[in-house]
Amino acid sequence: MPELPEVETVCRGLRPHLVGRTLTGVRATSARLRRASDVAAIERATVGRAVMDVRRRGKYIVVEFSGGTALLLHLGMTGAMRVCKSEAPRLKHEHVVWTLDNGAEWRFTDPRRFGSVVVCVLPAVGADPCELRDLGCEPLSPQFSARSLYAATRERRKPIKNLLMDQAVVAGVGNIYANEALFGAGVRPERAAAGLTEAECRRLVRAVKQVLRRAIRAGGTTISDFQAPDGSAGRFHVELAVYGRAGLPCRRRGCRGKVRRTVQAGRSTYHCPKCQR
Ligand SMILES: [Zn+2]
Repeated sequence: MPELPEVETVCRGLRPHLVGRTLTGVRATSARLRRASDVAAIERATVGRAVMDVRRRGKYIVVEFSGGTALLLHLGMTGAMRVCKSEAPRLKHEHVVWTLDNGAEWRFTDPRRFGSVVVCVLPAVGADPCELRDLGCEPLSPQFSARSLYAATRERRKPIKNLLMDQAVVAGVGNIYANEALFGAGVRPERAAAGLTEAECRRLVRAVKQVLRRAIRAGGTTISDFQAPDGSAGRFHVELAVYGRAGLPCRRRGCRGKVRRTVQAGRSTYHCPKCQR
């Protein structure tokens, strides 16, 4: 599943191809969208308009157009976007295809259809869509700090890992990076959030930012079928310290623990019982 670093990579890849271009047409397989009426709405919001900005918010992509309209896109489990020449062979599952004023095409594919393309409302130029008003702060922004996390954990009995993945607390930290950050901070994922000290919150915030930045620098991810927007075979691999390493020796220097896998809220948790407390 695309996580925040992949979504950031998609935005960075799309931006030079889309910003400043005018969309000249759209075709969509309406049966593949959540509602048939969406096609007409998408056409009204996008065709004949220039792309002003492509930005990420959590795991969402916001594409803003001239005239104040915008699209809110989510890649779901398997969504991908690319910009290619119009004669490039059609792929299966290309649900929405826009033509650009330079003859290129912007294509959204999604084999498993958990992604979404919807017209959204921006309260002002450059603002977050109203649809995202309940989303928590950006993990890489100064708003996500030791102080804000400490405040958010008070009187919360849920495990710290689940709190980190709570989109209303902080936006876009998925399962892989929650596991990695807790390992980096030496904090056991099952601990009640309210039990964390301010110093632990500081370590955790630092670790979250670090793992996300590292993954963004690597250009994405851990998933093998991720496609870079220019259509190149983006095969990234970020070295993961703990995720997916059940039974293997802990990677922390000097630690002789073995990584253990448990399940929390239906998602795999990996931690080292020796060095995560
Ligand atoms: Zn360890």
